[in-house]
Formats: sequence, C-alpha cells, structure tokens
Amino acid sequence: MKAAVLRGPYDAIGAEVDKPKAGPGEILIKVKACGICGSDLHTYKLGLFPEISKEVPQGRIPGHEFSGDVAEVGEGVEGIAVGDRVTALTMGAMAEYVTVAPAVLNFLVFKLATGIGYEEAATNEPLATSLHAAKMGKPANGEQAVIFGAGIIGLGIVQCIKAMGVELKKLIVVDSSDRRLEMARKLGATDVINLTRDNVIEKVTEIAGTVPMRFVPTILLPDVDLVYDAVGYVQGSAAQPVIETALMITKEFARIVVVGAFEAPVTVDLNPLFSKEIKIYGSFGYDIPGEFMEALELIREKKVDRNVLISHAFPFEEAKEAFATQANTGESVKVIFKA
Ligand SMILES: [Zn+2]
Repeated sequence: MKAAVLRGPYDAIGAEVDKPKAGPGEILIKVKACGICGSDLHTYKLGLFPEISKEVPQGRIPGHEFSGDVAEVGEGVEGIAVGDRVTALTMGAMAEYVTVAPAVLNFLVFKLATGIGYEEAATNEPLATSLHAAKMGKPANGEQAVIFGAGIIGLGIVQCIKAMGVELKKLIVVDSSDRRLEMARKLGATDVINLTRDNVIEKVTEIAGTVPMRFVPTILLPDVDLVYDAVGYVQGSAAQPVIETALMITKEFARIVVVGAFEAPVTVDLNPLFSKEIKIYGSFGYDIPGEFMEALELIREKKVDRNVLISHAFPFEEAKEAFATQANTGESVKVIFKA
C-alpha cells in the first residue's frame, strides 16, 4: 500500500509499504483523510516525538489525525462493522490502511454521524486539543485574551471560545503570516498582529489598554487577562520565546495556557510571573473519550467550521510536497492527505 514515510530531517517520501492486518481485538481502517500535525512537523524537521509515528523498514509513518472506513474487523471486536465511517486514536495513519488496537468503540474508535465529512473529521483530533486548551484558560465574558500562533491549534482555540459562547471584549491573535491572521479574523478575532511588522508588546498594549499595578500604581500593565501560547518555541527562532512575551503583556493574576511544544530549552525572565502572580497552565492533548467526542459534536452541530482550515490536499505519493507545504507556515494552514 502507499504511505507517507519520514526517513530523516526534511526527508519525506511517498513509499510502498506492507499493508497491515486486523489481529484479534483490532480493526483495519481504509484511510480517507489524514492531516499533518504540528507534532508531525517536529518529527519531520528535527526527529522529535518519534513515538507518535509507526516504524516500518522504510522509515516512520506519521499521522494520527484521520478518518476513514472500517475495512476489517478482528475477532472479538464489538459494535464496529466493516463499512462504518470512523475516526480513531492511533498512529501511522498517513497510509492507505491503518490498524487500531484495541478497537474499543467510543474509547479509541468513534463513528462519524451522518453529515460529518471525512476531511473535517480528520481535523477533530487537533480540535479536541484546542478545546482542552480553551477550557483550561477559563475565558469569561468581558475579558481580553491574546492567542499566539494562528496555526490549526490557535485558530481552533478561537473557534472553541466562540462555540463555548464566551463574549470576550478583545481577542487578539498574533502570528507572522497574513494569510493565517486573515483566517483568525474571519473566525472571530477582534484584532490581529503581524509580529514581523509590529512590536507585539506595544501593539497589544495599544489594543487592550492598561491597568495600574496594585502596589505601584504608576506602573501601567497591559489589560490582558488570558494568553494562549500555541507556539511554544521554534528552534533557532530569533524572537524571544512566546512565554516570555506572554508574561510581559498580562496584568496581575492573569492566566497563561501553554499548548505549544518547545523544540529547545529556553531562557525566560520569570520576574513578571512572581510579581504579577500569574498562573501558567500546560495543556497537552485532551481527555478521552470526553473531549474528543465533544469536539466531534461541535463539528456535527456546525458550531465550528473545520473545512475552512484545510488549505491543501495531497495524495500519499506527494508526501515530499505535502510536508514542505505544511512546513511553509506563511502559505498553509492545514495540509491533509486525501485518498
Ligand atoms: Zn495532532
């Protein structure tokens, strides 16, 4: 069968690999759509997170954001039949077929309701990640928030805050790509900042306004209650780590949710954390099956439109182009493989 295989740094190829089989307690899925995740990009660029891809003699097959049709049902699997349209939690899905083990319905395998397309279903996994992060920040009506990173996770957080019915006074999105920022605006950001053109701290302060610090009222702090860091740290980046900027642009008692990976250790001045009593939360993945199913429900109810986030589609044979396109963050939002 055809698959997208990573062989080393910046080396993705379309390859012919052995087709897997459904063993006892497993199912085999014929993949219809599979997205390239930010974490897959870390593997592509630097070989990070090898555990979220499947080893084959040709290299590693990534892919965990996918949907398809059940093609084989192993012995002992209950409630799942050949032909069911599903999404599932497994890896190695950038291939024509992938197995899920154990194939437990509504735990690792989820049926797609009528009306949910394969492509939007393939974006459910990152949507669940955004939902988990969005909720962790506990956004409240009238607050002002900043999201760093207008990739699939950051944009998903914009969508989830909207879907949660929270009315923020300001929702500012920061990124380096005008294309992604335009999308953020479409989805509900009140303001956007392109960090390649503007000084983020100055611009945020201008948009959000300021509040005096309790003990030193002559010090005015940006009136920001909540920050989502959907960037983490990109190795070799000349800019200061987002977490450091986040600590500087928040008012006292603010919350910061970190939902981006760090490609390398960073040095950060933590004095604002201490002096402003800021709370920092790490957000990783989502609750299963709860938030994964909640995200599917948001798609089914059309509370979020995930199709607009898919900017490119490629066949598995064009893995090289697909990964290069996803790595070009100025041009792409979500790249998927389509079979
Ligand atoms: Zn992912």
